[in-house]
Amino acid sequence: MQHPLISLKAASFTDSVIRGMSIEARRHGAVNLAQGMPDFPAPQVLKDAACRAIQDDVNQYAITWGAHELRHAIAEHAAWHLKLDVDPEREITVTCGSTEAMLVALLSIINPGDEVILSQPFYENYWPDCMLAGATPRFVPVRPPDWKFDPDELAAAFNDKTKAIVLCNPTNPTGAVFTREELETIAALCRKWDVIAITDEIYEHILFDGREHVALAALDGMQERSVTVSGMSKTYAVTGWRVGTILAPPEMTRAFRQVHDFVSIGAAAPLQEAGAVAYRLPRSYYDELAAGYQARRDRFCKSLWEVGFEFEAPQGAYYVMAGIGAFAAGDDVAFAGKLVREIGVAVVPGSSFFRDKELGRPYVRFCFCKKDETLDEAARRLRALRVIV
Ligand code: PLP
Repeated sequence: MQHPLISLKAASFTDSVIRGMSIEARRHGAVNLAQGMPDFPAPQVLKDAACRAIQDDVNQYAITWGAHELRHAIAEHAAWHLKLDVDPEREITVTCGSTEAMLVALLSIINPGDEVILSQPFYENYWPDCMLAGATPRFVPVRPPDWKFDPDELAAAFNDKTKAIVLCNPTNPTGAVFTREELETIAALCRKWDVIAITDEIYEHILFDGREHVALAALDGMQERSVTVSGMSKTYAVTGWRVGTILAPPEMTRAFRQVHDFVSIGAAAPLQEAGAVAYRLPRSYYDELAAGYQARRDRFCKSLWEVGFEFEAPQGAYYVMAGIGAFAAGDDVAFAGKLVREIGVAVVPGSSFFRDKELGRPYVRFCFCKKDETLDEAARRLRALRVIV
């Protein structure tokens, strides 16, 4: 029963399954492949830059919408990587992680009655973000093996109430990467229905097999209606730093900066100084990042296939949404419980990424942003699976 002191909004949320699995992992000494955070070090130059900034006494509030040097570095990075011409003075907001960025974007554009289109499955924060912002989510399914939208189903979701579509590209949890053609289809729908496209591009540098990251905002006529959300967490292996970014046209940016000021004031000042160094790293850094993740993907997917999980290799990001049909294992929650307790590997039950929980029962999600030895130990433990279930 709802506690009388708790709001309806707050009461509608459940505890994060991902964080819950991490607690279980610690309890059972399991290899934690649940929460998407690297277990390898962040680049030394960034750590040095952060320490230097603290020693230099960059320890007070930065400009609330982002330190000057960081915004300029973000604009330089957006120019070569996203092919976007972004004005650092009027079109960039720095937030406390892309988590805050997404919430600020929705809080700033949603009015009562507005609908927001989400894929199903979706990254688990988007539904609570819609609830907090007062938006009505409208789900469009994506299905295996490639987890892509059916263009007709997607088109049918747009209507007069649609205010925004939220896309994750590359996608957590499915590993799908949108092609330019798929993005063109979405862009045409956004233009037709006067809809804002909010893209979560936090995995913008983690694409495999030579795929190119295309920012929706870079397509013809889209920059004026696009909000590009990203941040440092995944690209620079600093998920704990909490530095996120929003690129958007000036009128939207003005609103985002105001809302962001009330939500958090600003991201950590010394870490923003280090961010200016990060966004100016040479291109070789990003090439090596993608190559490293591709090697991890190949190594780990092979092990999962050998054990009997069913899926196509992810195209980007660092997750595998794996079918568990081969294991006669009950549902996803029971299977994940068995994995963490008996096999010693923590994963996320697939239903965490669905509102319609039944649709997620056939899957669990693994993350592979880990050292080789961590992935190999997980693979070694998983080989026992056939015997136990
Ligand atoms: N967006 C997606 C799709 C994610 O997978 C994650 C983290 O796993 C986040 C956002 C959170 O990013 P940040 O650390 O920038 O808040």
